[in-house]
Formats: sequence, C-alpha cells, structure tokens
Amino acid sequence: MKSHARVVVIGGGVVGCSVLYHLTKAGWKDVVLLEREQLTHGSTWHAAGGFHTLNGDPNVAKLQGYTIGLYDELEKISGESCGLHRSGGLMLADTHDRMDWLKMAHARARYLGLETEILSAKEAKQMMPLLEDKYFVGAMLDKADGNLDPYGTTHAYAKSAKIGGAEIYLKTKVEELKQRADGGWDVVTNQGTIVAEHVVNCGGLWAREVGRMVGLELPVLAMEHMYLVTDEMPEVVAFNKERGHELPHAIDFKSEIYMRQERSGMVLGTYERAGVPWSPKQTSWDFGAELLEPDLDRIAPSLAIGYKHFPAMAKAGIKKIINGPFTFSPDGNPLVGPVQGLSNYWVACAVMAGFSQGGGVGLALSQWMVNGDPGFDVWGMDVARYGEWATRSYTNEKVRENYSRRFRIRFPNEELPAARPQQTTTIYDLMVKNGAVMGDSWGLETPLWFAPKGVKRKDIFSFRRSNDFEHVKAECVGVRNAVGVTEIANFAKYEFTGAGAEAYLNRLMTNVMPKIGRLVLTPMLNEGGKLIGDFTIAKAAENRFVMWGSSQAQIYHMRWFEQHLPKDGSVTIRRYDMNLVGLSIAGPKARDVLQALTDEDVSNATFKFMDHRSMDIASVPAMVNRVTYTGDLGYEIWVAPEYQRRLYLSLLDAGKPHGMIHFGMRALLALRLEKNFPTWYRELRPIYGPFEAGMDRFIRLDKPDFIGKAQAVEEHASGGTLRRVSFTVQAKDADVLGDEPISYKGKVVGWVTSGGYGHFVDRSLAQGYVPKEFAGDLGMGAFEIELMGEQVKATIIPEPLFDPEGKKMRG
Ligand SMILES: Cc1cc2nc3c(=O)[nH]c(=O)nc-3n(C[C@H](O)[C@H](O)[C@H](O)COP(=O)(O)OP(=O)(O)OC[C@H]3O[C@@H](n4cnc5c(N)ncnc54)[C@H](O)[C@@H]3O)c2cc1C
Repeated sequence: MKSHARVVVIGGGVVGCSVLYHLTKAGWKDVVLLEREQLTHGSTWHAAGGFHTLNGDPNVAKLQGYTIGLYDELEKISGESCGLHRSGGLMLADTHDRMDWLKMAHARARYLGLETEILSAKEAKQMMPLLEDKYFVGAMLDKADGNLDPYGTTHAYAKSAKIGGAEIYLKTKVEELKQRADGGWDVVTNQGTIVAEHVVNCGGLWAREVGRMVGLELPVLAMEHMYLVTDEMPEVVAFNKERGHELPHAIDFKSEIYMRQERSGMVLGTYERAGVPWSPKQTSWDFGAELLEPDLDRIAPSLAIGYKHFPAMAKAGIKKIINGPFTFSPDGNPLVGPVQGLSNYWVACAVMAGFSQGGGVGLALSQWMVNGDPGFDVWGMDVARYGEWATRSYTNEKVRENYSRRFRIRFPNEELPAARPQQTTTIYDLMVKNGAVMGDSWGLETPLWFAPKGVKRKDIFSFRRSNDFEHVKAECVGVRNAVGVTEIANFAKYEFTGAGAEAYLNRLMTNVMPKIGRLVLTPMLNEGGKLIGDFTIAKAAENRFVMWGSSQAQIYHMRWFEQHLPKDGSVTIRRYDMNLVGLSIAGPKARDVLQALTDEDVSNATFKFMDHRSMDIASVPAMVNRVTYTGDLGYEIWVAPEYQRRLYLSLLDAGKPHGMIHFGMRALLALRLEKNFPTWYRELRPIYGPFEAGMDRFIRLDKPDFIGKAQAVEEHASGGTLRRVSFTVQAKDADVLGDEPISYKGKVVGWVTSGGYGHFVDRSLAQGYVPKEFAGDLGMGAFEIELMGEQVKATIIPEPLFDPEGKKMRG
C-alpha cells in the first residue's frame, strides 16, 4: 500500500467509486480508495438498480440527469457493462391532488430540459397494460427512467478511475483518523497508515462510524427496504413479444410501490408506512454482503393495494424477497461537502438513490475539492444544511417519516410533524395561546400565521389558496395600516470582533462596512463572483460588528467565514444561535409603540432608517435595528433569551392602543413580495451574479478589493445573462410558488423563484429569472407562467407595487 496520497476515499460503494472516478477526471491522479471488504459490500450490491431524474429540488434533479447521462461514457472508458435498461417510467396519480403535483413536476421538468409527458390513465394503460386504469386519474411519463446492474456499474466507475490513475485497496479497513499539524490526515488502517491531504467519507452504511472517528455525529440512518422478484409472468412475456421492448417502470403513489421488469418477471418494491430503522445506534463492522430477514406482514398493506391496481402481480409467483438496509438523511437528500470546523474532511454519504445521484455527487464533490467550488448549486445536498439540533433521535424520527412518505406528495403549505417541536423560544406557549400556527424553521418552531379567536389553528393542505388566505391577508393589512409584531428568532446572527474585523468583513462582503451605529445590507460572493450570502451588518462599536442572515445557511456561512479568517488571530467569530432572539414590529404605528417603551428619543430625526442602537426597551437590554423586511417603518429588537418574554408582553401592552396585530412568516414573505425584495435561497443563490439579481446598489466596485470583485466587474460590464424580475400574475385560485417555467412568446425562457399573493396590493405576485434581453418587455401579459398545467399571463413590474420610493420605511 502507498504511504502518501493526496486524497483517501473511504468506502467502495457506488458513491466512493464515483468520487474516485471524478477526482481523476478533474485532474487529481494521486488518489486512493480504501474498502474494508470488496467493492459494493455495503448497501450497493443488493440495490434494485432503478434510476430516475425526479427530485423535489430542481438543482438535485439536474445532477440526477447528469448521473443518468454518464453511464454510456463509463461503459466506453471501462469496457464494463452497466447493464442498462432505458425503459422509461410512469408515475401514477390516483387523486386530483396527486395529479396537480405531477403537473407541477412536469412544468419544472420543462425548464430543466428533462423530457416528461402528462398522460391520461388510458394512455398510461396503453404503455403499461399490467395496470387497471380505473384506479388512476392520470400519469406522468419520464423517458429518462430505467435500471441497471449495481455491481457492473460500480465496477465501471472503479475501472474508469483506475484507468485515470487511481488506486484501490480492498480488504483495507480504516480504523482511525488522526489530524496532522499541516491540516492533513493520518489514515490508520488494518494494513498500515497512509498520510493523506484530504479524506472523503463515503462510508455508506458506516458513514456515521467514519464520522465518529473525527468526533462528528452525522444525521444519517439506515432503513430496512424490501423488494420482491416474481417468477416469469405470461403477461410480461406477451407484452415483450408484441411490442418488442420492455415494460416501463411504474410508481403507484397510492400503494407506495415501484415496479419494473426483471427478465420475464417483475421487481416490486415498497416504501411502507411502518418502515423500520436498521442499526439505529451503531453499524456492526461484521456486517457484510448480507440480507436481512424479510417481513411480508409489514408490507402487506401496500401489497394489498398494489395487487388491486396491478392484478397480474397478485397471480405471479414470488421467486425471492430481498430485504437490505440503505441510508437516508432527515430530508432524504445526500450529505455532501466539506464539514465546518474540520480541515480537509469531506463527506459524500446518505445517498439514498446511488444510481440516480451517485454521478452528480461525485462530480460536485470532486470539483469542490479541486477548484474550491462544486460548480453547481448543491445547497439541496450540502452537509451544512443541518445544525446541531439534528441529533441522532431527531434523525431517527425524520428518516422514518421521510421513508414512509417517499411516494407521498407534500403540499406547499404542509409542515411535517415528526421530531417537533425540537427547539422553542420562551414565548412559544404565549404565541400558541394567541393563535400561532407553527412551522419548522431550521429546527426552531416559528409562527407561520395567527388564527383569530374561534378559528382552528390548522392548515388545510392544498396546492391552491387555502384556509390561511384570509387570515394572512388580515395580518398584511394590519401591518400596513397600523402595526404588527412577529418573532424573528429564526434569523442567523453572528458577532465579529477584533482589530482585524472591519478589514476582514470588507474583504468578504461587497458593500462597505458602516460607521458605528449604522447598518448596511450586503451580498457576499464566492471566488467566481456568484451570490453566496446576503446579510445585514451593524457596526456596534469599534472592532465589533453584529450580523444577521439566513437561518438555514448558518453552518454553510460559518464554514466560509472560518475558511477565510486571517491566520493572525485578529478576528473572532461568534454564532449567537439561540443566545440572541428577536421580535420585529412593523407598520406606520411602530414608532409610537417603541417610544412608549423607552425614554430615549426614537423620532425619525434621531433614530433614522438603517440606524442601529443599544438601548433598554421595556427595561430589557436590547439591540435595535431600524429596518424591517416588510418594507414599512419598522424595528428589529434583539435580546438575550431570558428577556424575550418580558419584551413580548410589553410590546403587546404598548401596541394595544395602536391596534397592534400578530403576523407570521407567511405574511412577512407576502409583504416582501410587494416590495420586490429578494430572499436568500430563492432569488439569491450561487447560480446568480449580483447584477443579475438586481443587487447593484450593494456592490461597491469602487472598493479596493473583495472576494469575487474581478468577476463582479466583468458582470457589471457585460450585464450578465439573466435578470431577476417581479411579475403580477393573472392567477385565479392558486398562486405560483417557485420553480414554475416562465415563457416568452410561447417558449420557456426562465423560471419562477418565489410567488404568492400580495394581500395589501391585492395582486398575485411572482419573482423569477429571465434572460436579460426579455426583461425590458413591460407589455401587459408579455410573459406566461405555467400554473397547475395552465399558462397564465404575467406582466413585469419594474417598481414595487407598495411604496416604490421607499418613503414609508424612511419616514
Ligand atoms: C433493497 C435495496 C434496494 C435499493 N434500490 C435502489 C434503486 O433501485 N436505485 C438506487 O439508486 N438505489 C437503490 N438502493 C440504494 C443504494 O443501494 C444506495 O444508494 C447506494 O448503495 C449507496 O452507496 P454508498 O456507496 O453510499 O454506500 P455503501 O454501498 O454502503 O458503500 C459504503 C462502502 O464503504 C465501505 N466502508 C465503510 N466504512 C469503511 C471503513 N472504515 N474502511 C473501509 N471501507 C469502509 C463499506 O464496506 C462499503 O462497501 C437500494 C438499496 C437497497 C438496500
């Protein structure tokens, strides 16, 4: 075995082999894979081998498309067969809601350039005669679906990697990882030690254990999974003979089964509701290429429905039943990337669909390692999307929930109940008493909307406008006309201190740091000049800055901040997490409410828009920012958690004479749409440049330097290719949500990033990206957006419909 390598990949499943191959493809040849047994001897060998492009996150869907397109290349390079069957697949809806969901998926596929088709139940039966069309209302055909041989495919990756210069050592178990002073690793194995610059955890079923070697508890858990293989079926033989090709794959949402042809019979697998975790605490190192005891009773409810929907299956003999474990993260997407707080430790695990996602994961991770950037928007699978609240038992509950819902649709307003409430603030119970309907925001219970007295605190799930509509409207109108209060504890908050803090922030951010007592809004760019953050920063004192950003991205951002810290110790970063919590008041009466709670002068002359002050509010020591995301006059008040209850109760008291109402996150997001404000994760992501996103006024090209400046200068000169635009939409009973295609003169040219109803301006609104050459067409209905299978007219609004001159927030 070698003594040194640039990269050691731990694990020879499909994911490790893909990472290894892609590293060689990206130009790193001194790379090694260590496998404790034989290749595929984790979850890979017994996979059913199905692949598809569909994913709830369009950026992950794109990477799935890449994976599926890769197999021909692998066969060519390696000379190994992947055993490909490109049969296409049907997703079958038994209700109109499920059909709405398929229509949304189809619309999204159109802008991703994926080939899907909406079919009637009769047309689906034509393609897949095993189904009883009376049980279905329609289907979506995805031509890219198919299946392959897991063993052959993994070996095709491995051989291609070896041809590219990689080495693979079998029967080599990594037992210990010791960090070296130079940031690299001593990789201690049962065959000796290799010194590596980087290690990649592709441990699959043992990813948790390989994480624990460096003190990391990854949110990943294996579930048992069963599929049946039938004997030869005369219906299948007849179909093949008559049509000259295989049956397509099928997914039946109702029974939660998937099926595909296997020789002259079928494979039928289930994601049953009563799924069972496997090795919930610790995976035994003795587990090998083994199967688990099948439990037909557990999948009987799914089979009963499946057999009714596909009667030929009920008559077929069962040749074998496979029960094997494979891993999931809490949301079902992979965990990929560098781990915050560790140097040169990378993960590529929790890949539940290795044959749909393995290629994309390998490509993204290798580019990240080699170029410092994944080259795609990989947020949906970034390991940094979880915080410390994603504990082992949280993961257990969420993974079981996710497994049981694998083929269930999620409504846009549906909050999933498992593992909640995980984190609550001290005013949680009071807000609930005041009618709050809570949602999960990065593990924290956060108010979505407030049910008035006598109204049930419950969402009715729908793709269309639902029961919260009129109440969110009342909240929006209440804010705009008087004043509202909401909790904003879920924002990310950081403190930067030290003699080097200002210079450091000026280098990281595109805007210039403010004077003491002032705030700035600022994007942050990566080296490629793309948006990787959007923050509000206050200069609280000399050498002390407080910053607010997106809650979901705080580990992602911390990773970046730490990577760029000066080595001289002149900057210290603190993530406040829940040690700083906040309430926001917004609306024309907000100043009156604030003034009633302090003896300091908060008039417009002394406490201006974008001012930041430390002061007592209701005797509570607070930091107050004169800013609000609603676009009104407003304040954010930040306090230590032990003061939040008093602050909240005092605000309610002081607000009473002014008709103060509660408002939740749904109203906040609707109000910001009326101001054309973008939001991180929807409009602001690493696929967009700052000028494309319309962030011009926060990009100080006159500053000496900042990360991404050269690219920003270039984008400014060329104008980039896209433009973020806001629309009014001629919607009827449903509003756009995000990811719908935007057409111009009948051709898909862009996509929606977010949408909703602007309750105060009384219009359905959307934001999205279109090529810059179309962004100037302000003609009525110049664009169309696909909404629930219908093309609805959309018109660009260059100015916000609410307070276009920003007089209210400044007044
Ligand atoms: C019944 C079943 C059906 C499935 N059907 C499909 C399907 O149709 N389509 C699909 O895409 N996916 C399917 N899957 C899921 C698929 O198997 C996984 O997505 C895939 O196997 C994940 O691969 P991996 O490389 O991450 O993990 P693994 O295959 O578990 O590989 C991890 C490897 O790391 C090695 N390793 C771990 N720790 C160490 C160490 N310390 N030192 C050295 N080596 C180590 C292990 O020996 C193992 O070989 C199915 C899974 C099951 C169980």
